[in-house]
Amino acid sequence: MGYTNSPLVDCVKMSPNHSGKRTHRIDRITPHCVVGQCSAERIGDCFPAGREASCNYGIGYDGRVCLIVDEANRSWCTSSNANDQRAITIECASDSTHPYAFKDACYKKLVKLCIDICQRNGIKKMLWINNKEKALNYEPKAGEGIFTVHRWYANKSCPGDWMYNRMGQLCDEVNAGLNGCSYNPSEQGTVVNYQAKVIADDGLNCRDEPNGTILMAYPNGAILTITQEKNGWGFTGAGWVSLQWVEKISDNIMQEDDDMDLAKFKEFWNQMRKELQDNDSSAYSKAAREWATSTGLIAGNGTQINGEPNYMWADILTREQFVTVLYRFAQMMGKA
Ligand SMILES: [Zn+2]
Repeated sequence: MGYTNSPLVDCVKMSPNHSGKRTHRIDRITPHCVVGQCSAERIGDCFPAGREASCNYGIGYDGRVCLIVDEANRSWCTSSNANDQRAITIECASDSTHPYAFKDACYKKLVKLCIDICQRNGIKKMLWINNKEKALNYEPKAGEGIFTVHRWYANKSCPGDWMYNRMGQLCDEVNAGLNGCSYNPSEQGTVVNYQAKVIADDGLNCRDEPNGTILMAYPNGAILTITQEKNGWGFTGAGWVSLQWVEKISDNIMQEDDDMDLAKFKEFWNQMRKELQDNDSSAYSKAAREWATSTGLIAGNGTQINGEPNYMWADILTREQFVTVLYRFAQMMGKA
């Protein structure tokens, strides 16, 4: 495949620091942070002969782009021959202290440059896998590319926490551009607030992102509060779970409180009591229950499907029912 350079380039400061023609097609993009809010030219000046470092592109604080090593060549950027043989490396102007934030113009140009790199190199979809081992072991299929970061190869914070925490968003924005649509953060995840119960005999894995690394597992029956949804995944506060293994048990928690009025409360109260109005009971009360029903102290109400009277053991006893039971007892004792 013939390699080209980006038409987005504003200035050129070629560095002699490279290994000549790359030995692997371009299927990775590695953004770095410069640790300084430099111009494109200033980044280009950072890689003279003898400096033993370089990158394919630099993006200044204002979004201007410097070409430093031709895309055809392997740059010296990521402390990894294996990575840089297949990656386009991009040094981006950033703050000089943690979290090494990029200016908006620089970040926006990074998105545009990544889209352009993909389009010229046959990449239709970029991936971000937030896990070093998985990402580095992933072999992109035809038409796929993958983002990598410097911190996976060297004891560095590069590209800085600001950019690292936006790698997923960068990937989403680049893919939106490749699909010819504009990036809409609201499509990336929906804010929700409801409770759901885990319905999975073997428990439900909680992951660092949808389809990501397993952090922990929730036991079957656990009650989760879901606060965000994204492509069939729900955020629990601790991580992401697949929503196909949970059952929603209450709708929007916040709104439910707002909507609560007397009529609604009565409805719920009656619903709750309905559940209690059956013959479910504990073993400890067996003798007492048998005595109370055989003597007629407790009469029950209606008939269960199996023909037994419904004693509603777990339901509430009213004052009226209380005095009736007392009265029956007093009659039994010959006192009333
Ligand atoms: Zn770096």
